[in-house]
Amino acid sequence: MKKIYLDHAATTPVDKKVLKEMMPYFSRNFGNASSIHSFGQEASQAVEKARMQVSKYFNANLNEIIFTSGATESNNLAIKGVVKAYYKKEKKKPHVITTTFEHHCVLETVKKMEKENLIEATFVSPKKDGVIDARDIKNAIKPNTILVSVMYVNNEIGTVQPISEIGKLIKKINEANKLKAKSCKLFFHTDATQAVNYFDCNVEKLGVDLLSMSAHKIYGPKGMGVSYVKFGLDIARIQDGGAQEFGLRAGTLNVSGIVGLGSAIEKVKSQKSKVKSMVVLRDYLINKILKEIPDSRLNGSRIKRSPNNVNVNFSRVEGESLLMMLSVEGIFASTGSACSSGSLSPSHVLLALGLKPEETHGSLRLTLGKNTTKKEIDYAVKVIKKSVGKLRKVSGNVLKDYYKNKS
Ligand code: PMP
Repeated sequence: MKKIYLDHAATTPVDKKVLKEMMPYFSRNFGNASSIHSFGQEASQAVEKARMQVSKYFNANLNEIIFTSGATESNNLAIKGVVKAYYKKEKKKPHVITTTFEHHCVLETVKKMEKENLIEATFVSPKKDGVIDARDIKNAIKPNTILVSVMYVNNEIGTVQPISEIGKLIKKINEANKLKAKSCKLFFHTDATQAVNYFDCNVEKLGVDLLSMSAHKIYGPKGMGVSYVKFGLDIARIQDGGAQEFGLRAGTLNVSGIVGLGSAIEKVKSQKSKVKSMVVLRDYLINKILKEIPDSRLNGSRIKRSPNNVNVNFSRVEGESLLMMLSVEGIFASTGSACSSGSLSPSHVLLALGLKPEETHGSLRLTLGKNTTKKEIDYAVKVIKKSVGKLRKVSGNVLKDYYKNKS
């Protein structure tokens, strides 16, 4: 049976060359990068090479790159770390702005801190096309706002957010506040996890103070990530222990993972030449689905969209059932983010676009990878079409009755 993986937003395979570079650091060069002896220093050199590769990619300084266990930890560090540092100086409750369709690791962090009465929070909603209006962020800023966190590319619908526009407006506000001798700076964080493969992540151009990413989305290893933290930014660590990573992230360094991340990020540039052809393939897939499968609709902007993301809705279909049918046929996709699958509650991302719960259920996310082919897409659409037809026959009426009774 053919196996077609169309879930690259969930994770990607480790690139063979990346894996080869990682291998020695599991066994032959197993030193602890914090050890003073030369064996440890060999590991430390490998870590510093990776830090160079990563800093170059983001146009950052070496001491602004903190290795973490992934974007979940990086996002937690950015939000909790900034709030914690603020409380060391001020006693007033700070205000944090984020969006309603962030990844759960941002949303849950902010919601929990709000519930614990540590912060005031504002959740800005995207427009119907899944894109945040920078003016809405500006309008949400209050005198006690210390942090704005907006994701770069949404993981479910692939829409691209105006990060550099928001960065510019925050810079202006900070400059104006400086003139007013207001001591509290407003920091800007972006979760760039789904953007690194495809979009410019130059931190200067974006105007961000903090940025998070995960290696496994860019053909690197799982459990490995980066926090970009602008030099001099007031941030406290959230995990106590050793003094690793400039005192900001305690714990023995994952040397093989770090080497893998450095190697993977260096290869992103060479993949960028393939982005144009991926956009062609993505649009071919969108058009084919919308043309061949009746009552289907694209979720999120068609234009401001990641090259690898197709998120479509099929009315009168239950998304989880569709996924199971596709999986049996060897096609691997997703309804929303991998982290929230398993829960049948409607996608918070699709709800944020203003869809009714019943309109969110038949959604399917197909995310392409660097090796996805037109032949695979043709086959996938054939199977999706057949499966949607079958499901509509079986469950269409059941779903119709269910929602009629609910409303
Ligand atoms: N943010 C975004 C936008 C993501 O897509 C993901 C992974 N799905 C994460 C954060 C969390 O990444 P990880 O699970 O690697 O920590």
